[in-house]
Amino acid sequence: MGDPGGRLHYHVCVEERYMQHRILHGAEYNPDQWLEEPEVLEQDIALMREARIDTVTLGTFSWSLLEPEEGVYSFEWMDEVMERLERAGIRVILATPSGARPRWLARKYPEVLRVGPDRRRRLFGERHNHCFTSPVFRERVYELDRRLAERYGRREHVILWHISNEFSGECHCELCQEAFRRWLYDRYDGDLEALNRAWWTAFWSHRYTSWEEIASPSPLGEPNLHGLNLDWRRFVTHQTVDFMLVEVRALRDGGPSLPVTTNLMGFQRDLDYFRLARHLDVVSWDSYPLWHGRGRTTPRVACGELDHNWDPEGRDWVLASGVAWAHALHRGLGGGRPFLLMESTPSHTNWQPWSKPKRPGMHVLSSLHAVAHGADSVQYFQWRAGRGGSEKFHGAVVYHDRRTDGRVFQEVRELGGILERLGGMEGSRVEAEVAVVFDWENRWALEDAQGPRNDGRLDYVEECWRWFDAWHRRGVGCDVVHPEGDWSAYRVVVAPLWYLVKEEWADRVARFVEQGGVFVTTVWSGVVEEHDLCHVGGFPGPLRGLVGVRSREVDVLVEDEVRRVAGVWGVCEGRLLCDVLAVEDEGVEVRAVYADGFYAGSPAATRVRRGRGWAYYVGTLLAQEGIDWLVGELMGEAGVVPALRVVPEGVDVSVRVTEEGRRYLWLLNFREHEVVVELPEGVWRDVLGGGERRGVLVLPGYGYAVLES
Ligand SMILES: [Zn+2]
Repeated sequence: MGDPGGRLHYHVCVEERYMQHRILHGAEYNPDQWLEEPEVLEQDIALMREARIDTVTLGTFSWSLLEPEEGVYSFEWMDEVMERLERAGIRVILATPSGARPRWLARKYPEVLRVGPDRRRRLFGERHNHCFTSPVFRERVYELDRRLAERYGRREHVILWHISNEFSGECHCELCQEAFRRWLYDRYDGDLEALNRAWWTAFWSHRYTSWEEIASPSPLGEPNLHGLNLDWRRFVTHQTVDFMLVEVRALRDGGPSLPVTTNLMGFQRDLDYFRLARHLDVVSWDSYPLWHGRGRTTPRVACGELDHNWDPEGRDWVLASGVAWAHALHRGLGGGRPFLLMESTPSHTNWQPWSKPKRPGMHVLSSLHAVAHGADSVQYFQWRAGRGGSEKFHGAVVYHDRRTDGRVFQEVRELGGILERLGGMEGSRVEAEVAVVFDWENRWALEDAQGPRNDGRLDYVEECWRWFDAWHRRGVGCDVVHPEGDWSAYRVVVAPLWYLVKEEWADRVARFVEQGGVFVTTVWSGVVEEHDLCHVGGFPGPLRGLVGVRSREVDVLVEDEVRRVAGVWGVCEGRLLCDVLAVEDEGVEVRAVYADGFYAGSPAATRVRRGRGWAYYVGTLLAQEGIDWLVGELMGEAGVVPALRVVPEGVDVSVRVTEEGRRYLWLLNFREHEVVVELPEGVWRDVLGGGERRGVLVLPGYGYAVLES
């Protein structure tokens, strides 16, 4: 999956009309809300030019206007908008409108409405409330998409298809149940006994005797059959992708093959984006960090379900690291290529606990942050705030006061000018010599497990981010990679809480290490195989031979209980889980021991040389300071060189390298006061500030610099 399906033809797109040698600056444009006020639409174009917006996303929620009744299509309004945009030289990312369907469709064909795990059919309402399996829904979407492609796919200023909107959720209707059973039948080669073994259905006497007995997980019935749960999540991804491919086919059938994307949502839980992204030409995502937010309203704050939306202590540079981690994910989904920032807010959202505006300077800084970490665009939701509806208080380039002399409009305009000057950087890659493994299947299985702790504190996304953050704070570029991705470019790969490990993956990891790679895994890894059945012979299962240690048992620390861990680097805390380890290989070196507990003095972290590389095993979840120390050791062992010798707290560092080898160092200060940065040796060209820099650089509060070596 390193090159997901080989379908990405991003570089071809960059060369052609897609990017036109600049970083896109755009917004989601909803003229369908203003058709009765033509003067508003006329003003829009002039205002877009004033704001230096060069691209808009059009038509995301326009179904009820494009097809007001079944089979009756109305494109005239869109023709007019298209022509206006074309005349102004504004490019269009054209959306398919399947994210929200018209009322007539639900009234006429109730099968298009989603059924919940409680087996109740939803009423019409909201968006993303449709069955992905319904033949009627698929047919109506196909017919509309094909017509859009026929009508607009050849227009010079239409550059990209934006399929649907934020795919998510699941449907438990009878059509979906039937599709699930067919998918399982194929997966298990028609062998029901193989399914019974894989799901361990002898437990509680839950054997299936016919395929018809299989139903999706439900709180009313079967919520804790882990093999079923895992296969259901895989099926939901499969079915969503299958639906998306109907849309891709419609677009291909209707016109020339423009590249396709769909807007993803970071570390959402529902879908395995590594599988979905294989079918995209370019990855794009919607990023909504709440800058300057603080306070803890849920245990999953910095990362996880809320997608690193704010830092509990209000440290914007910590939040920036979480956002960089999400950007790295989207690079990883595209095999390391740049992605598009499809949505962000120019000021505030309306759906977070607080709709806090960005302080002066933060808009430019946070947008450049996305570009520093691999984005080839900065786009907003939304161009103009609608007067009604659920998101009427969501930030917009043109807000309800309709003024252009306000702070938000002016900062958008300022950013547009900066992005123009960054032309030529599109297509460049983010430099990274280390990676953290991330796998949705692992996450699903780990979160579904009952035990060893059920208090929700074993947070896979956050644990992975803590390792990313340790590299990031040292100025080392870090990627996110799938277990089956291409690891060959990395010196170090870290796989924290790698609970689900397929037998065949052990050989890949062993080869990576033999050839000189450094591999690190932690407690609660190698526990189950792909069906969520436990590995036998001791954890970490198939990785045991590589790391040379075995977990005898796992101690679980309750509440604020911690274990002291004494390492060659110092003493720190172990958290949440502690392996009691047996050393099984003479070559194993103990790097840290437990300093207390009934297993005091026994190994807490080990390493062993294999071929030209090292395999590390960390038997607990180290406090951040322990991870930092270990990362320091790994940098030395693997010869990883940071972009800056010393990274001042608050400064975010990234490096982008063009195909021709031009190297750009990005320095972004997320503190409100100035910071002094000691530059690496040599003379640096200041791309935005002009002139040359050497020695030290003073970054003002929320200041930034892009330096070319
Ligand atoms: Zn359904």
